[in-house]
Amino acid sequence: MATPSAGFTGPADLHLHSHQSDGTESPAEVMRQVHAHGIRTAALTDHDRSTGWAEAGDAAVALGMTFIPGMELSAKHEWRSVHVLGYLFDPENEALRAETDRIRGDRIGRAERIVRNIGRDYDLDWEDVVAQTNLDATVGRPHIADALIARGIVRDRTEAFDGILHPREGYYEPHYAPDPLTAVRLITQAGGVAVIAHPVTSGRDRMMPVPFIERLIAAGLGGFEIDHRENTEAGKRKLREIAAEHDLIITGSSDYHGSGKPNRPGENTTSDEMVARLIARGTGISPRYP
Ligand code: AMP
Ligand code: ZN
Ligand code: FE
Ligand code: FE
Repeated sequence: MATPSAGFTGPADLHLHSHQSDGTESPAEVMRQVHAHGIRTAALTDHDRSTGWAEAGDAAVALGMTFIPGMELSAKHEWRSVHVLGYLFDPENEALRAETDRIRGDRIGRAERIVRNIGRDYDLDWEDVVAQTNLDATVGRPHIADALIARGIVRDRTEAFDGILHPREGYYEPHYAPDPLTAVRLITQAGGVAVIAHPVTSGRDRMMPVPFIERLIAAGLGGFEIDHRENTEAGKRKLREIAAEHDLIITGSSDYHGSGKPNRPGENTTSDEMVARLIARGTGISPRYP
């Protein structure tokens, strides 16, 4: 078993979003918030980009925390949206960069299409979204939700996701995303550790079939995010079995989005042993230590 690296410190929350994607706070503010909730090891995992790492890392280290660079890569299996967390990969890796550029680029046109669809029935246009969005951000439905809130059409992001932004309402449009096998390979080839985020949410996405998960493991998958508020209890039990069978890493995280979601920093955490395994396995970039 790997031992913790020098400077490595306690309670870990390895899934956090800033306003580089759809969180509501700057990368530094996210680090201050998780620190205030007792977290001492933190990973910034914005969707499809790594641009918040420097700011978050500086803030984390100044607060005496260990910082683990990460990302939540959008993927798709059949009709399912699959999120693959990547940790400690080389941010300069060409293949991974090209893929994240493509996803982020396609997300913009997709968001415009959703807004056009909504605009047929509600008083909303693209300018409303631009007004609510950090122009550098990875654009997603949460930014459209913020525009709907500003227009007084919904009260909060949750109401938007339960209503207008839900695929059943007919305004939804998909965006380009790679197959999960490609996502796992890209992260792994960039020296990173691939961990499936919230693999067993109830309802819409459910779990990928076990034989397909086994193909992901053969392709280099490092682990599962098991302790996450959206995973079902039965699903967590199943994932723990698969993880034990294949000696995979298991993580627990909050998926904090600032005020954009009810998830609180540190509501789920990852054990020291699992953080040490993650650090031992990731070779694309080093964690930052206080
Ligand atoms: P998108 O990737 O554009 O389809 O949007 C999905 C993102 O919206 C995910 O990152 C979720 O974290 C976020 N999200 C999903 N449901 C909610 C919700 N009820 N409230 C706020 N954000 C949500
Ligand atoms: Zn998000
Ligand atoms: Fe996610
Ligand atoms: Fe997330």
